[in-house]
Amino acid sequence: MIPPAATALLTIDLDAVVANWRLLAERAGAAECAAVVKADSYGLGADRIAPALAAAGCTTFFVATVDEGIDLRRRLAEARIFVLSGPMPGSEGAFTAHRLIPVLNSLDQIGRWRGAAALHFDTGMTRLGLPAAEAEQLAGRPELLAGIEPVLAISHLACADDRDSGLNRAQREIFADRAGWLPGAVPRSLAASSGIFLGPDYHLGMVRPGAALYGLNPTPGRPNPMAPVVRLEAKILQVRDVDTPLTVGYGATHRVACKGRLATVAVGYADGWLRSLGNRGHGVIGGERVPVVGRISMDLTTFDVSRAPADAVRPGGVIELIGPGHDVDAAAAEAGTIGYEILTSLGRRYTRRYVGVGA
Ligand SMILES: *Cc1c(COP(=O)(O)O)cnc(C)c1O
Repeated sequence: MIPPAATALLTIDLDAVVANWRLLAERAGAAECAAVVKADSYGLGADRIAPALAAAGCTTFFVATVDEGIDLRRRLAEARIFVLSGPMPGSEGAFTAHRLIPVLNSLDQIGRWRGAAALHFDTGMTRLGLPAAEAEQLAGRPELLAGIEPVLAISHLACADDRDSGLNRAQREIFADRAGWLPGAVPRSLAASSGIFLGPDYHLGMVRPGAALYGLNPTPGRPNPMAPVVRLEAKILQVRDVDTPLTVGYGATHRVACKGRLATVAVGYADGWLRSLGNRGHGVIGGERVPVVGRISMDLTTFDVSRAPADAVRPGGVIELIGPGHDVDAAAAEAGTIGYEILTSLGRRYTRRYVGVGA
């Protein structure tokens, strides 16, 4: 049931997130399973998700920015919190004050830091992390690490979602080579969600899943082993019977071809229901898949509900936009993007309901 005053409801299942973390931890064997909760837990609410994971036994968290780290520290007094972007000049004090551990990505960041840190070696992503030349300098001049206590070495795979990519093995070997001079007691971490499913060679000392915790499929093209976390339901505002000649929405891009029924719901691109879903996306009502017709507006989407059960189609009735059988990955495929972008685009306008542990 959507509360009377709400027009759309986003339900987030904390039990499913915890079950996903447990499954990933089990897959990772002896490796520690951390949790990546950057971008507000991929848009789903780090303030609710991180404590649920901590209660389940997760002790290490990754965020992208120092501000995210400061927010997370307020919720988790004890956890180990790594900040992937590392310290910007002048932000070192914030790290110390909130007991955040930077991931050091360059000799410049290394030079400005004293204390515990993770070292990030770039091995083929060419984004963040010590480039080959800087890693070589560091290996040859250990004094550059004076005052730094390395507690973790990380690298990041570029093609982990493609089991057949030769880059996976190559990056694993380069990582072993670049980080090989560090004391053996410093744990290594290479795998994010998809990397965990490349097998034990990729688990090393720690895995760092994000997407799979939130139900996205870490093994594209194969069945999704993760439990669904998100359901998105929208109320029907208006129903109308239509016949030719009529067009629907901005730009008149959909032409009504025969007698039928349309229903308009209160979700649009301002809610992260991406505009690219116009004339391509689907919802589900009364067990029937119903297509989006016309362009997505800022606040509204219209569906062709001609084939849906007549009793379900009424103002106040509910069209499910994301749910079992048409998950985030499916909506992403229809929108021409990836599930990560759908999740992190979910808007602030939804009534949010958390179910499961601690909710
Ligand atoms: C975002 C990120 C992760 C998590 O990736 P998923 O694919 O969401 O599991 C892990 N490590 C780094 C460095 C990242 O930037």
